Amino acid sequence: MSRPARFLAVLLAAASVASILPPAGLSAQVVRVAPTRPVRFSTTTIDKVAYYNLADLAKYLGLKGAWAAGRKNYTLTGKGPKLEFVLEGDGRKLLVDGLWLHLGNKVVTRGSNLFLSVTDYERTLRGILSAGDAGPLPPVPQVIVLDPGHGGADSGKTQGDLSEKVLTLDVANRLKRLLEGVGYRVVLTRTEDRRLELRDRSDVAVAVGADLFVSIHFNSLDPASNSAEKIAATGGPEIHVFTPAGQRSTDAWSSGEDNIETKSAPVNQHDAWSSLLAHALQKQLVAGLKTTDRGQKTGHWGALRSLDCPGVLVESAFLSNPSEARKVATPEYRDQIAAAMAAGIDAYAKTIKGLRSER
Ligand SMILES: [Zn+2]
Repeated sequence: MSRPARFLAVLLAAASVASILPPAGLSAQVVRVAPTRPVRFSTTTIDKVAYYNLADLAKYLGLKGAWAAGRKNYTLTGKGPKLEFVLEGDGRKLLVDGLWLHLGNKVVTRGSNLFLSVTDYERTLRGILSAGDAGPLPPVPQVIVLDPGHGGADSGKTQGDLSEKVLTLDVANRLKRLLEGVGYRVVLTRTEDRRLELRDRSDVAVAVGADLFVSIHFNSLDPASNSAEKIAATGGPEIHVFTPAGQRSTDAWSSGEDNIETKSAPVNQHDAWSSLLAHALQKQLVAGLKTTDRGQKTGHWGALRSLDCPGVLVESAFLSNPSEARKVATPEYRDQIAAAMAAGIDAYAKTIKGLRSER
């Protein structure tokens, strides 16, 4: 290479380096990549718990906040579900499109601002309100594992002729037929009256590569510790997800028991999606059975703990409630329970499918 040619080559190399260097002061823009998750809001620590200001969340979600008369309720409305925070009582409940959801931490009022715990938003509400940015999307469910609660020597709750282990298997079989009818592959953790350890139940889901897991149960109040009036007045389904790390489960709080687990369980990776599934099931069960809404709750359920897919536990009805027990005793009502669950699972699947097609 001649001297002038070499000089030109050096000049061109320098120019090409210069062209990829950002102008002074703009280097941050050049290295920035599109965020995969939205910018986080600032947090405030209250009683050792990290909180978001609801005003920040409302702004991000494009919702409008308003206090109801007397400042007992605060509503957020806009696109998506309507949220209504109920500040009376323990402050751990809100209505999502009219359906009760039990929070892990209480909502805190400071002046005219309301604060929601980071865990309650990220783990429980985000999947319902803003599923599109609740992390990597799960697969559109194809393989569903149904878990008939109890079995063998463990009858579960009993009431007269009704035995929980028999009812859970009956409803699971009805639900299996419905889901298979619309193309899902369904596996039951047990198909006969035999005892299964809790861990065995999630192991089935892991072994078959389940996309969803639903554990089926029936509820009951103990007559030794509840009045006849309370027993007669208590009915309706409850939908449980595994308690997020760092929170108490719904019913532990009310008894004052501290059952916080600081480490995440495997199923906690799927919290946002388990919550979305729980909400979809709750909506269909409450509407389909025309019954009381006892809400979406959390609990440290052994059958859910080791799942590697979204999972919920459904307490379908109260055997201790005489009128509900009479209904549960009929195949027609058990068909209705199964149909509502199938509709909930299908609604969840449609949401995931919709989100996947948007990305
Ligand atoms: Zn049970």
